[in-house]
Amino acid sequence: MSGRTLLVTGGSRGIGAAVARIAASRGWRVAVNYAVNEAAATALVRSIGEAGGEAVAVKGDVGVEADVLRMFEAVDTAFGPLDALVNNAGVVDRKARVDEMDAARLERMFRANVVGSFLCAGQAVRRMSTRYGGRGGVIVNVSSVAAVHGSPGEYVDYAASKGAIDSFTVGLAREVAEEGIRVNAVRPGLIGTEIHASGGQPDRLERLRGLVPMKREGEADEVAHAILWLLSDEASYTTGAILNVSGGR
Ligand code: NAP
Repeated sequence: MSGRTLLVTGGSRGIGAAVARIAASRGWRVAVNYAVNEAAATALVRSIGEAGGEAVAVKGDVGVEADVLRMFEAVDTAFGPLDALVNNAGVVDRKARVDEMDAARLERMFRANVVGSFLCAGQAVRRMSTRYGGRGGVIVNVSSVAAVHGSPGEYVDYAASKGAIDSFTVGLAREVAEEGIRVNAVRPGLIGTEIHASGGQPDRLERLRGLVPMKREGEADEVAHAILWLLSDEASYTTGAILNVSGGR
C-alpha cells in the first residue's frame, strides 16, 4: 500500500485508531481525524511516526459540512490525492426508550453517524471517482450489529442510524461501481473501546459478553483487520458487502 493515502474519521481512539495504526504499518499514509480529543490524536500520530509510519492529525466534526470540507482540504495538502476513506466516527447516547427521546438527541445522533458518513463519502467520491478524473479508491463504512438487533431499551436511535449506514453502503456501492470505487461496511459486535463508557455504561462489556456466542468481546484490532482486508486489493471484487465482525452475535 506504499504511497497510498487513507483518511480514517474518528481515527484517534478505539476501532479507528486500530485501523490507523495497522494501516500505517502496512505502508498507508494515514490522516487521523478527531473531533475534540487532540491529545489522543497527537499521541497516536507520534507513535505511528516513531514506528516508521506516516500520519497526520486532522481536527473536524464529521457532522459539520464546513469542518468536512476543511478536513479533506487538509488531507489534500498533507498527502495529495486520496485513495481510501474509513467512515468510522460514531457516537452512542445514554440508555433510553424511544418514548423518552427528544428531537435534539435524534438530530445529534443522526448528524454524527449518518450525515457525517454521507458528507465524507461525498468528498471522497469527488476525489477518487474516475467520473471526476480520479484514479478510483475504496470506502469502508463502520456500521454495527445493532442495525440488525435494533438495541431495544438501550438506543434504538443508534441502531437505526447504523441501519441507515447499511442501506447507504449498498446504494453508494452500486452508484459508483463503474467509477473505480468499491464501498463496503463492517458490522462490529461488542468491542472493547471507550464508547460504552461514553454512553454512561462503563460496565456494558461485563454485562453483555455472555450473550456473544464466542463469550467474549472483540478487540479493536480484530475489527481493524477486517477493514484492512476490505481496503486492500485482495478485496478487488467485493463491493456492497456488509461483513459482521461480532463473535457470532
Ligand atoms: P470510541 O472509542 O468512542 O472512539 C470514537 C472516535 O470517533 C474518536 O476518535 C472520536 O474523536 C471520534 N468522533 C466522535 N464523534 C465524532 C465526530 N462528530 N466527528 C469526528 N470524529 C468523531 O468509538 P469506537 O468504539 O471505536 O467506535 C468506532 C465506530 O465503531 C463507531 O462508528 C461505532 O458506532 C462503531 N461500533 C462500535 C462498537 C463497539 O462496541 N465499540 C460496536 C459496533 C459499532 P474524539 O476523541 O475527538 O472524541
